[in-house]
Amino acid sequence: MRESKAKKVERAKAVFESLLTEYPNAKCSLHYLSAHKLLVATILSAQCTDHRVNRVTPALFQKYKSPQDFAYCDVSELAKDVHSCGYHNQKAKSIQGASLKIVEEHGGKVPNNMDELVKLPGVGRKTANCVLGEIYNVPSMVIDTHMVRIMNLLKFTNTKDAKKIEFELMALFENQNWVKLTHLIIDHGRAVCIARRPQCGACVINELCPSALI
Ligand code: SF4
Repeated sequence: MRESKAKKVERAKAVFESLLTEYPNAKCSLHYLSAHKLLVATILSAQCTDHRVNRVTPALFQKYKSPQDFAYCDVSELAKDVHSCGYHNQKAKSIQGASLKIVEEHGGKVPNNMDELVKLPGVGRKTANCVLGEIYNVPSMVIDTHMVRIMNLLKFTNTKDAKKIEFELMALFENQNWVKLTHLIIDHGRAVCIARRPQCGACVINELCPSALI
């Protein structure tokens, strides 16, 4: 039987509360000290683990201290500096291009709204939402691989399209919980609802999950 919207909202609330109890300290796992550094780290994190990005950024931010340093750098040298994050040429181009626009069009300040953020080279909704939520306290969700997988398992969506998922989830979860929800789902995806072997028997939301294998 099709679940009503009201029931789904109720289940979404229960999922959020259970995960919050399980992972009370869930937070962004990328290390950063400013909006621009988070933007750089988020661009580097595409197709790469946050752990690896955190190993690269200390030396990177030692060498390139400001948005200006990235904006006017030698892109091929920057590509070498971020080589271990994968897709290094594309990521270096995005970081340099985004930094140049930030310096020349935004006075060196990372924009605080979606429209301007997604105009920066290499910045999509995922990176923009990360910056908006972490830096500017704008209710926002980052739809990463864990969010796509787990929200499908929970039957809160049935698409892999990140933008559609984002809007569907906005209608189910309270907006003050959106930022935290992303962190909770990422922690749950890493610890329990692992891609190829979900540990449903040990899952705190198994009674709320239509895909539970128990
Ligand atoms: S019950 Fe299983 S499939 Fe559902 S969220 Fe938990 S681990 Fe994932």
